[in-house]
Amino acid sequence: MNLFAEIDSNAEQKMTRAQGLAMLKAFLPLAGGAYARERNFDKGPGEHLSVSRLSPFIRRRLISETEILQAVQARHAFSSSEKFISEIFWRTYFKGWLEMRPSIWSEWLASAPHAFEEERYLKACQGKTDIACFNEWAEELRETGYLHNHARMWFASIWIFTLKLPWQWGAAFFLQWLRDGDPASNTLSWRWVAGLHSRGKHYLARADNIERFTNGRFAPYGALDEGALPIVASDPPPAIEPAWPSLLPKNKYLLLLHAEDCLAENLVLPASPEAIIVLPASLGNIALGKHHWLRDRSIDSLDKEALADASMRAAGHFNCPIHVIEGQTADSVDGSENQGIARELIDFASQYQLGDMMTSYLPVGPTQQNIAQITKLLAAEGVHLHQLVRGYDRVCWPHAKRGFFPFKENIPKWLKNLP
Ligand SMILES: Cc1cc2nc3c(=O)[nH]c(=O)nc-3n(C[C@H](O)[C@H](O)[C@H](O)COP(=O)(O)OP(=O)(O)OC[C@H]3O[C@@H](n4cnc5c(N)ncnc54)[C@H](O)[C@@H]3O)c2cc1C
Repeated sequence: MNLFAEIDSNAEQKMTRAQGLAMLKAFLPLAGGAYARERNFDKGPGEHLSVSRLSPFIRRRLISETEILQAVQARHAFSSSEKFISEIFWRTYFKGWLEMRPSIWSEWLASAPHAFEEERYLKACQGKTDIACFNEWAEELRETGYLHNHARMWFASIWIFTLKLPWQWGAAFFLQWLRDGDPASNTLSWRWVAGLHSRGKHYLARADNIERFTNGRFAPYGALDEGALPIVASDPPPAIEPAWPSLLPKNKYLLLLHAEDCLAENLVLPASPEAIIVLPASLGNIALGKHHWLRDRSIDSLDKEALADASMRAAGHFNCPIHVIEGQTADSVDGSENQGIARELIDFASQYQLGDMMTSYLPVGPTQQNIAQITKLLAAEGVHLHQLVRGYDRVCWPHAKRGFFPFKENIPKWLKNLP
């Protein structure tokens, strides 16, 4: 029986929880031995059936890590599903690692705009290099918003070590187009390939490896620098001890939804909210320099779709009124949108006569930066925005102070009692 035959290769087009759950269900039979055997093969656009393609759903928490891990455990023994489980925890590890070293993100953000005027950058992004596989991956990324993990590794390696382009620019190209674009997984994976994460250990793409794991679609012999040395830079800063808020007010409050967490109905809240306010999807975008946005507007639209789905579920679950704040569609990059959003929130606070708002925790990234500005504007008017850290993140993230291997040792313990 062909296990892959039942899977729809275009299933991820709809950005809803129902779609994510359907994809998880279809993928579950493969999450054991089949994934361990086949996950490294990049079979080409439309053929990525031996991996889950769940990342855009996990990224927006349309489905949670906890429910994926529970579903996998209910179906497979740990011994056969360990590979898939540890990939889910790679994401968790990167989130926690960046959370405790936010300056890595802000330094990257400051360096990224330099790419845009550079001819070398534009040629690489347009797939106009002499390396056929690289050109095809660039096109696949722009057209589908997805690249297989192995292709991401090869692409990043060729970008850095053969084309000798700054890793920061490559990370910008990925975040512009990836449907699962994530500040932690993306920035830290690029650093990992460059040899900046596991210091001195870089990832070199090799022609024979590409030939084998693309089933011979590509064989770039002689085209790659297979002997390059890792990038040298100063050590990353030490981890900042997390100081995540643990006490939530018992007062009545308004619940704010953002696209970093589209699963409000399973938040552990002190009481039901008086109303729900849906924040604009554009909060996940941020200006890069004076003329560019971090991500393509099509990715904002995915967040918008995810938020529409999240708000319907939340309104049904909490049985309360729901209000939507529309984002600007203008191309201005001056940050004025946050002031407008803060004003609307203050109006809602006075309409409901409440001084407290609650939202799920904002990890490092554009939404966090935008909401930090909004939070200040609210505080100036006596409105307090509280952030609620999910149990899973609170338990796992603080263990991401060093490498993945010490982090991974905790997995069996976490799986026994998943938060
Ligand atoms: C240079 C580079 C950039 C990347 N940028 C991103 C990004 O912006 N967003 C993102 O979600 N992932 C990123 N990844 C990690 C990984 O490539 C994707 O998560 C994965 O390809 C998504 O496809 P999938 O859902 O089919 O994965 P599966 O193989 O089915 O894995 C299941 C889930 O585990 C997580 N996961 C799997 N591999 C990794 C990994 N290496 N690191 C972190 N989490 C992982 C994802 O949430 C994924 O959905 C990047 C990897 C590289 C090498």
